[in-house]
Amino acid sequence: MDEKQVIVTGVRPTGDLHIANYLGAVMPLVKTLEANKEAEVFVFVADLHGLTDNDAQTISDYRLPVVKDYLALGLDKYLNSGKVHLFIQSQIGELISYLALFLSRYTTFNDLMRVPTLKEKLRVNQEAGQANALLGYYPVLMAADILIHNATIVPVGHDQLPHLEKTREFAEKFNNEFGKVFSLPQPHTTENLRILSLKGQGKMSKSHPEGALFMSDPEKTILQKIARAETAKEGEATPNLDSLLTIAAELGIGTEEFRKEHMAGKQVVGQFKKVLGETLVKFISNFQNKRSGISDREVLDVIMKGGAAARLSAEKTMERVKRAVRIDYLNN
Ligand code: AMP
Repeated sequence: MDEKQVIVTGVRPTGDLHIANYLGAVMPLVKTLEANKEAEVFVFVADLHGLTDNDAQTISDYRLPVVKDYLALGLDKYLNSGKVHLFIQSQIGELISYLALFLSRYTTFNDLMRVPTLKEKLRVNQEAGQANALLGYYPVLMAADILIHNATIVPVGHDQLPHLEKTREFAEKFNNEFGKVFSLPQPHTTENLRILSLKGQGKMSKSHPEGALFMSDPEKTILQKIARAETAKEGEATPNLDSLLTIAAELGIGTEEFRKEHMAGKQVVGQFKKVLGETLVKFISNFQNKRSGISDREVLDVIMKGGAAARLSAEKTMERVKRAVRIDYLNN
């Protein structure tokens, strides 16, 4: 088996992108692409995963706009290499489901219920009376997304590590039973960035829009949100101020001097907010301009090409899987 590097990563199309999505997910992905120019990379919009805990209309509304977001945020630069494939998960839905079926042999209902991230999601959804079996099946589907391209590297946040562990377990058990078909994917843990809501505690999230800075916000809203963002009294450090400083630093603003003066009791928060607000306006309006220049037709072209490459890769793996399980009896 060739040992070329294959990277697989997904994004759920569940809402408007905010600045924390960019800093926590898109920017690390672009860095990964930059650092792995020789690797084959599959980036997919996880519309089937989205259906585990979102309604079909939401997924339909965001499926293609997310592709446009990602192109405008820098993925466009990497597509011409022929090694980076951007596609929609459902373009190869039947192949993923087929592989998931074989992988299901290596887990039990009880095991699935014990995956930590899932346990929490199931609890929240159960309270709302919505925990469906697809949600419980998530770790198997995620393993199929990864193994179907024979991934060697999967960029994950720390909270996703248990899922990747499950994926490796499936691959190992399959290989033990049928001979080496799958590579064991290695996690590449990305820096655990945690951007807080601009208002109150908790993470910045689309479910609390008043504390989120959206990539679609107009200039006036951005400046207002930053002006009203919670910070700290002179000489005090708070998680909210730290989070604003993190956003600033990630966008290339030098923050050390400001932090020092603030801790020494100087009134510099207003000045800091002004610089941060202006930088954000510039960054977000550049993004919006670039995004508006990308046509729907271009998005479709990207995913037709990406989907075809993903299908080729997935079919190749499924041929090997079927041969290993001796289920290709019609071709004998
Ligand atoms: P979500 O849309 O909430 O599923 O988030 C998608 C991805 O964006 C996450 O997996 C994180 O990588 C990133 N992300 C979302 N919210 C935050 C946040 N508040 N701070 C840092 N990263 C975040």
